[in-house]
Amino acid sequence: MAGVLAFGSLQAANDLPELGEAASEELSLAAEKRIGQQIMNDIRWREPSYLDDPEIEGYLNQLGGRLAAACSDPGIGFYFFPINDPTINAFAMPGGFIGVHTGLILAAQSESELASVLAHEIAHVTQRHIARQLQREKQMSMASLLVMGLALLAARSNTQMASAAMASSQAGSIQAQLSFSRQFEREADRMGFETLQKAGFDVRAMSGFFQRLLRATQVYENNAPVYLRTHPLNVERISDMQNREQRVRYKQVPDGLDFHFVRAKLRALKGNVGDAVKDFQVLVQDRKYPSEAASRYGLAIALLRQRDWAGAEQQVLAAKKLRAASPMLERAYAESRIGQGDAIGGLKIYQEAIARHPHNAALVYAYGDALIAQQRFNESLKLAEEQLRFAPRDIRLHHLLARSYAALGRASQNHRIMAESYALQGQTLAAIEQLELAQHAPDANFYEQSVIDARLRELKRRRLEEEKEKYR
Ligand SMILES: [Zn+2]
Repeated sequence: MAGVLAFGSLQAANDLPELGEAASEELSLAAEKRIGQQIMNDIRWREPSYLDDPEIEGYLNQLGGRLAAACSDPGIGFYFFPINDPTINAFAMPGGFIGVHTGLILAAQSESELASVLAHEIAHVTQRHIARQLQREKQMSMASLLVMGLALLAARSNTQMASAAMASSQAGSIQAQLSFSRQFEREADRMGFETLQKAGFDVRAMSGFFQRLLRATQVYENNAPVYLRTHPLNVERISDMQNREQRVRYKQVPDGLDFHFVRAKLRALKGNVGDAVKDFQVLVQDRKYPSEAASRYGLAIALLRQRDWAGAEQQVLAAKKLRAASPMLERAYAESRIGQGDAIGGLKIYQEAIARHPHNAALVYAYGDALIAQQRFNESLKLAEEQLRFAPRDIRLHHLLARSYAALGRASQNHRIMAESYALQGQTLAAIEQLELAQHAPDANFYEQSVIDARLRELKRRRLEEEKEKYR
């Protein structure tokens, strides 16, 4: 914990934005959300280990969303995101933002095992354990709020604060280091179990997974999984889990196909590409896999990395013959076609896949990228506009739209959309700068000019309010 206090920018304390209720006894849910959102933005843009992969992120939110819907307080709203880190860990930040290490996804032997850790984290959020724990460790509380506040400040100010990335990782590590009390752990186990059961997963996976973690601790002592440092585990917790299981009738729960696809992709993207190809070739040859389609998909991803487009396509087609219907497979298929020079064919695969999975965000982004790469900017523009109607707060769609405008030489619209993307992330100052650029771009027509002017006035008002809040 001492390492956190050694953080060097304490003099910035005077500039800290008002944390609202944070200074009072307990952090309100609204304040938690605000802090969590700012740290999340910071992680997304400045944290190198943030895994910017819409397919993995989409899967985590699909799985996490299914659990959240079954938890005691679905109204909180949850957001799950992948962290590229081989250690076994997951962490809940204030406000329902839950980071999941790729190491955890790969260590889980079934989807129910992964779900059991997520359900446990969800319970920490619904029970407000973070705020309550901060309050308990009063010594910690101001320091950690300060660090979070710095992350907040960094995210709000447009100046490239050198410590921004540090602030965010420090804030993240507060959550990573914050060790929950035994009482909170018991509560999270109990509620997580109920969530797991209600969502239809195998409740026995919980004790199975935690038992393996505990065994690993005993073998490696100093190299215990990070997760156990923040969630102290003992034999008692495991026997509690087992007692609960005994009251539930056994039911076999098969893994979703996506679970295997996501794991295959993570493995295929890891390390040396030649090794990845070889590993999957052996897997496919020896038929040692929980899912043949996923192993062939993994091989396809490794081959795409090697730019062996035809080889990748062959694996995709073999997987499709197994009647594996997955948007991830369609994307690999489209990429393999485009790689072989058949852009029209590749784009058509995307179109058909999107028709079948209309709001699969990862497919839409990939299709948008492909359209831009093929210089079909009018089509990428139309795609972004259409999709934004369903997901008006989607940052990646804003970027697709902005890129399309930029490529079409429409500078003022490009800056206007970038402004909206910053505004969505609470970066009002950066948004204002973009709108000023939009204002001065020569290509805006009269109607567009007045839209830009009105929005600029609105954001400047917002900025003033934020300043007032800061010095309140
Ligand atoms: Zn815990």
